[in-house]
Amino acid sequence: MHENLTFIVQKLHQLRVINTVNLDELVKSITCDPENIKCMYGECSECKDLSCPVSELVSAESGVTYLQWATVEREHKNDPDKSSKVTLKKEFQTTLANLLDQLNIQLHRFTRHAFNIRNQYIHYRALRNGLKAHECVIHVDFSENYLCKYSAEIQAVHFGASHQQATLHTGVLYVHATPSPVSFCSISPSRVKGPPAIWQHLSPVLDHVKSTYPDVTTVHFYSDGPCTQYRQRGNMFLVSTELFSRGFKAGTWNFFEASHGKGAPDGIGGALKRKADGIVCKGTDIPGAAELYSALQGSGTSVKLFFVDEQDIDRAVSGMPNDLPPLPSTMRMHQAVTLSYGELTYRDVSCLCTAAQNLHCECFDAKHFTFNHPQAVPTASTASTASTDIAEWQSPETVGQWCVLKYDGELYPGVITDICETHVEVRSMAKIGINRFFWPAREDILWYLLDEIVSVITPPKPVTSRHMEIDKDIWAKLQNVLQEI
Ligand SMILES: [Zn+2]
Ligand SMILES: [Zn+2]
Ligand SMILES: [Zn+2]
Repeated sequence: MHENLTFIVQKLHQLRVINTVNLDELVKSITCDPENIKCMYGECSECKDLSCPVSELVSAESGVTYLQWATVEREHKNDPDKSSKVTLKKEFQTTLANLLDQLNIQLHRFTRHAFNIRNQYIHYRALRNGLKAHECVIHVDFSENYLCKYSAEIQAVHFGASHQQATLHTGVLYVHATPSPVSFCSISPSRVKGPPAIWQHLSPVLDHVKSTYPDVTTVHFYSDGPCTQYRQRGNMFLVSTELFSRGFKAGTWNFFEASHGKGAPDGIGGALKRKADGIVCKGTDIPGAAELYSALQGSGTSVKLFFVDEQDIDRAVSGMPNDLPPLPSTMRMHQAVTLSYGELTYRDVSCLCTAAQNLHCECFDAKHFTFNHPQAVPTASTASTASTDIAEWQSPETVGQWCVLKYDGELYPGVITDICETHVEVRSMAKIGINRFFWPAREDILWYLLDEIVSVITPPKPVTSRHMEIDKDIWAKLQNVLQEI
C-alpha cells in the first residue's frame, strides 16, 4: 500500500502537479484531523471526499506512465503448460487526470492504514512504559525456518531437499519487575505454525512468567497483523481460554498494522541463526531441531531457549475444536481483550485505556464475542438471498464464498479461502472460453489485493462434467464492470 501510493506521489511531484512527496502532509491535506479515527477511516462527512490540492493542470489529458506493484503470470521455465503468478513492478500508462484520481483513491484508502500504524505504535509504547507489577508484555513473531546443516558441506554448493528445518518462534518479554527485557526463542522440529502450535511455543514462556513473576496476572501480547496465524479465530479462542487455564486473570492480544510489525523478535531469530551457522562452520553438525537447540544452549547466548516437541504440537492440533464460530470483522481487528474464560471484547484499534490498566473500556466501538455457547449458523436461505446480486463482497463471512477476480483484463471465478485487511486468498479456476472455466490440475491458490476482487457471486453452474459457467445475468453485469476498469 505504501509503495504503490509512493510511486504515484513521486510521479505527480516530478510533474510538479503536487508540491510534496511527504505522505503525512498529503494525508493532512485531505483530512480535518489525522488523529481522529472518523476522519482517517473515511467516516467523516466533512473530509471523506476531499481531494488533494494541485497546482494548475497543464493538460489533464496528457499521457503519463507510472509504476505499480502488480501480479503477473510467468511461464514455467521447463514446461510451457505450467505458469506461476509473481508480483513485480509494472509500468502503467494513463492520463494525468486519471493518475490524479488514482492518487485521491489511494490516499483515502491509505489514511486508515496510516492511522492504524501510528495508533498501534503509540499503544505499544504506552503499554511497555506503563507496565504495573501485575502485567507483562510478550511480543512474538515466527522467524524464518532454520535450514539444518552439516559441517562438512557448509562449503559445498549443494544444499539438498533432505535437510531438516527447525521452526523458531521468537519473542521479547517485558515485565515491570525487570528493567531489561527477556529475549526468548522456542525451537521445534514441527513445521506447523497454526494457533495450537503457537500456544505450544508460548507454553514454556508462560510457565516461565508464572514461576519467575508470580505477581503477573495480566498478559498483553503483541504480534504482527493480518495474513498471519496470530489473527486466526483459533488464536482468539486460545487466548481467551488458555490464559485462564494457566491461572492468569486477564489478557489482551494486539496486532501491529499490516507490514508494520517487524521489531525486536525479528532480530533475535536472525542473530540465533547466524550464531548457529558459526557453530557449523567450526565443525559441529546441526542436522535437526534438537541439535540446533543444544548447540545454541551451549553457545552462551543470553536468549532464553526452549524446545517444543513435535508430538506436543501434533497433540495440540488434534485437540483443537474444529467447529469454532467465526468472529465477525476479524480482519479489521487490532485488539482483543479477554477478562473471563471464552469471552472476548475486540476493536479496530488498540485503546490506550488498556495501557492504563483499564481493560473494561468500550472505546472505538468495542464488539463482544463468546466462545462459550454455540453460535447461530447462517441458514442456506439467508446465504442465497445475500448473494443473488453482485454483493458487497468485503463482509467478514466471505471465506468459502465464490468470487470473481480480475486479472490481466480477464475475469476468473474462484473460492475465497482466507481474508485479511488488505488481501483475499482465492483458489481460482482456469479459463477455457467465454464464461467457461475449469479447475486446473494444480491448485491455483494465491493472495490478491482487495482491488483485484470484483465481486462475490453465486456458485458457477456446471455445463459439462468439467466445465462451469457463471450465472448469465451476473456475467452480463460483470462485463459492464470490466468496461469501467
Ligand atoms: Zn504501509
Ligand atoms: Zn474529518
Ligand atoms: Zn478505552
